Parts: sequence; structure tokens; C-alpha cells
Amino acid sequence: MPEKLIIIGSGPAAWTSAIYSARAELKPLVFEGAYSDENRIAGTLPLGQLALTTEVENYPGFPAGDLEGYLDSALPKEKRMEMPPHGKDGVNGPELLELMRQQAVNFGARIITEDIRRVDFSKRPFRLNASDSKTYEAESVIVATGARANYLGLPSEEKYKNRGVSGCAVCDGALPRFRNKPLAVIGGGDSAIEEATYLTKFASKVYLVHRRDKLRASKIMAERAESNAKIELLWNRTVDEVQGNDREGVTGVRLKSTVGEADLELPISGFFLGIGHTPNTAFLQGALELTDKGYVVWTAAMRTYTSVPGVFAAGDVADDYYRQAITAAGTGCMAALDAERWLAEHGT
Ligand code: NAP
Repeated sequence: MPEKLIIIGSGPAAWTSAIYSARAELKPLVFEGAYSDENRIAGTLPLGQLALTTEVENYPGFPAGDLEGYLDSALPKEKRMEMPPHGKDGVNGPELLELMRQQAVNFGARIITEDIRRVDFSKRPFRLNASDSKTYEAESVIVATGARANYLGLPSEEKYKNRGVSGCAVCDGALPRFRNKPLAVIGGGDSAIEEATYLTKFASKVYLVHRRDKLRASKIMAERAESNAKIELLWNRTVDEVQGNDREGVTGVRLKSTVGEADLELPISGFFLGIGHTPNTAFLQGALELTDKGYVVWTAAMRTYTSVPGVFAAGDVADDYYRQAITAAGTGCMAALDAERWLAEHGT
């Protein structure tokens, strides 16, 4: 018997669609991804980008404050110990995801900790090949595999992820560790400038480090960076090493010159990447219509429909614009409702 609904992914979009569809008695089967070296290196481990952040201050319903008692009762001690310390400032990313996952389980969602490697959406039931070498069939599918921030790939950058290295200024910029400190943003596109401009609210100064002598960003964004007194543009520079120590995390960065100037060492407390995102859609291999940047195309306004009827997309995998936990959760809810209505009309 095919599953009624398979959900692929394990971020806010996936868990929200699992919560809604489980409550609607669709008995969703969630492929949350595998804890493999391949996924660790690619930045696609289960629970996604939010699991790479520390405090989450902007998710409604989780105000600043000590949630310790509630978290103690909801998450087993072993799990709590693997997570970043729970500050007194609100929930952190991994805790929020674990709570969402648990909420989905409580309503009857079933979870398989494997990747989906290939899909066949050419006929129904849809067929999905997983990393456990099994093939699963489903009448409907929600793709919620998210996107990953691009990193430079330096070992020193990897070492300080979560401790001063971040791929998301909006997620992390307001944290105490970055307040009134010099920070660096890498990149020369609109994202880098948006991040740098956002960070000037908190930082004492923001270095915008670009590998060429001309920004890729739109004119208006470039002017915004150039006219902001707190932003210093550093041209023709690439990152050689993120510097730091175990106690403080990031403390500096060493930059190389692409035009023969001397190396530059900057004291900084935060190292932000603004070099683009990559949606996790490689496994789709042409099964759904994608944008030229690889994001799943939503084919109708205010719907989570894709180019294949019965397959829905939610969260960052189809959104290169808002990219927030709450918007991902919102579209996850929409996808579950869309799937439920579609199954009511077309399901067996
Ligand atoms: P992007 O336009 O592709 O820019 C990426 C930037 O990162 C480029 O400057 C690139 O350098 C640099 N880069 C890439 N790989 C690098 C590496 N390994 N080392 C150092 N630098 C590297 O990406 P984006 O800024 O994320 O923008 C994506 C899309 O979203 C764009 O269409 C953008 O207009 C849009 N967007 C719009 C807004 C807005 O309007 N408010 C905000 C954000 C994004 P090079 O220039 O040398 O290639």
C-alpha cells in the first residue's frame, strides 16, 4: 500500500507539515535525512539550517526568558547535553527543532532517518528511493529539504561554526557576542550588503570583504554600503584563515590580497558569509520544475503546488527571498492543507 503522504526534510517547514497532516490523519511518513559524513560536509544534516544557529529570538511564541523547566520535561537529558547551552534568553535553534519534531511524533508522524536519493514523479503512486536502498511509494509528497548557506570550506571556518562563524546575519546578528564588536561579512552581492547593513545595527564596525574590485550587488544596494559610515569595504581580498580560540570563539581573520598587497589581520568577533545559498534539490534530478538557481517553482500564487500535481513544496527549498523559520513553518502548514485537499479529491 502506498503511503498517503511522504514529507522530505526536517526543518520548520517539514515538521509543521507533519504536525498538520498527522492531525488530519494522513499518517505522514517523514524522511528527516541521514546523519552521514556526506551530509555533515555538505551542511545538510537533519534539522537543517536552524540547527546551526544559537538563540532564536524572533520565532513567535518563544519569548526571551528561561524555558528551562519546559525544555527539561520535553527533551530527554542526553539530547539536551548535545545542544548548545540554553541561555536565559529564549529557545535555541536545535531545541526549537527538537520540540517541533516531538510535536509531530506526538500526533503520529512516523520518521525515517534516511535521505531520499531519487524520485520518480512521472506517475502515481510516486516512487522514492531512499539511502536505505528501499523504494517507498506515496500518493502525495511534500518537498521541504531547505537550502544551505554557502561557506568557503576552510577548516578554520568549520571549527568556529556556531561560535562566531555564521551563514545568517538575520538569525544571529543580534546575539550578545556580536554587540559593539567589529565583524566581517564575506561577499559582494546583495545578500552580503544586506547582511552588512543589518549588522551595523549591533556592531561597532563591519568589514565587507570582497574578492574583486567591483561589487556584484545592485546599484542601490552598493550605494547603501558605500554610504554607511560603519561599513568599510575591503577590495581584492580573500580569506586565508578564521582565527580564534576555544574560550572566545572567533577573534580575528587573516586576509590575503589578490593584487600583491601584504596580508591583513583584522580583530573581529563575528565572521558572516554572504556568498549565496544552494537549495537542496539535487535529488530531484529534473522531476520538478526548478528556477535557474535550482529552487522549486511554486506554480500558483499563494499555493504550494509544484509542476507535478500531488507534489507540494514548502520552506526554503522554494523560497530564496524570505528564508525565515517562521515563513518556512507557514508554508509547511500551507503544504499540508494543500496535500490534504488534493488527496480528498484525487486520493484512493
Ligand atoms: P550572488 O548575487 O550570487 O552574490 C554572491 C557574492 O558572493 C558575489 O559577490 C561573489 O563574488 C561572492 N562569492 C561567491 N563565492 C565566493 C567565494 N567562494 N569566495 C568569495 N566570494 C564569493 O548571491 P546573493 O548576494 O545571495 O544574491 C542572490 C540573489 O538574491 C541575487 O539575485 C540578489 O539580487 C537577490 N537578493 C536581493 C536582495 C535585495 O534586493 N534586497 C537581497 C538579497 C539577495 P563575485 O562577485 O566575485 O562572483
